[in-house]
Amino acid sequence: MNFNSVLDNVTSYEAGKPIELVVREFGIDPKDVVKLASNENPYGTSPKVTAKLQEIAHKAFLYPDDSFYELKDSLAKKFQVDSKNIIIGSGSDQVLEFCVHAKCTKDSKVLMSKTTFAMYEIYSKHVGATILRTPSHHHDLDEFREIYKNEGADIIFLCLPNNPLGECLDKEDVYKFLDEVASDTLVILDCAYGEYAKYKDSKKEIVASDVTAKYPNVIYLGTFSKAYALGGMRVGYGIANTQIISTLNKVRPPFNITTLSLASAIEALKDEEFVSECIAKSFTEMSRYEEFAKENNIEFIPSYTNFITYYIDGFSSKEVANKLLQRGMIIRDLTSYGLNAIRITIGTNEQNSKFFAIFKEVIA
Ligand SMILES: *Cc1c(COP(=O)(O)O)cnc(C)c1O
Repeated sequence: MNFNSVLDNVTSYEAGKPIELVVREFGIDPKDVVKLASNENPYGTSPKVTAKLQEIAHKAFLYPDDSFYELKDSLAKKFQVDSKNIIIGSGSDQVLEFCVHAKCTKDSKVLMSKTTFAMYEIYSKHVGATILRTPSHHHDLDEFREIYKNEGADIIFLCLPNNPLGECLDKEDVYKFLDEVASDTLVILDCAYGEYAKYKDSKKEIVASDVTAKYPNVIYLGTFSKAYALGGMRVGYGIANTQIISTLNKVRPPFNITTLSLASAIEALKDEEFVSECIAKSFTEMSRYEEFAKENNIEFIPSYTNFITYYIDGFSSKEVANKLLQRGMIIRDLTSYGLNAIRITIGTNEQNSKFFAIFKEVIA
């Protein structure tokens, strides 16, 4: 059968491997499998959210309130914007998809960093857009400027901090760049790990209300999947001026998050203390990864997120990842990004100790 030919050169997203797969393939007891592959919050769902879910489980037969009134209202207060500046997606991934589908055609160009979140490319390929990438792995705004000046772009993606590398641009540099971008270029600020970056260094904090106040061509994206510990609920959001939001709403399907997801996101916003505790613990644990890397001569990228990237020297990272997997340790190999490196989600104290032990065994 012939399908839309733009899909011929699309490879589907390689998601972090699930625990179930390791159990099936290697016969490892599920309780011995450690998953540090998808940047989930390892401390689990907030007990308040779990209680809420149990309370409302019987409402699963109802569609959610498609205006997402209460969730938008809570987000509007948190970010000091108006509810009309917010769109809700099934993960911020879906908001990314809305942006590309609303803005691009096959004649469009999109600009992104050489090594960044894989979905930017996948959504752009769906519409047949031309993909432009900067030469450096890390975000380098001068490289973005150079390509933008010569080629232009309909969408510019900035991942702040950047997945899968963990680096993050300073807010002032980002704002200066935004000042230079033409009003018809949509700039997407993907702040999936924004809460982590802001905790580590306030200079990294992109403020959503600055975006709505100053930049009519920019959208800020956030998610409940990482710091808010709701990866399985699939809730994300975009914050932008009303023209962008009302246009994105034209491509949004009805009831695009579930009744349970909606309730859990609303509840999660009431438990900010849980989120800050998780972030603090994550950076305490991160320092163990830095120490371990230094002790073992491993090159790493200082990270503003809940994961760290180790360059692998002397072995193929794919082989290292496979050997870890056989021992029940799921991490992310970055071969598909053209790097001989692995990305490890910062786990709990116990999970990280286990990683160090198994990793030592594998590289010995
Ligand atoms: C995890 C992630 C997202 C979105 O995840 P959702 O679960 O779809 O909200 C977006 N961008 C980056 C860079 C991410 O790492």
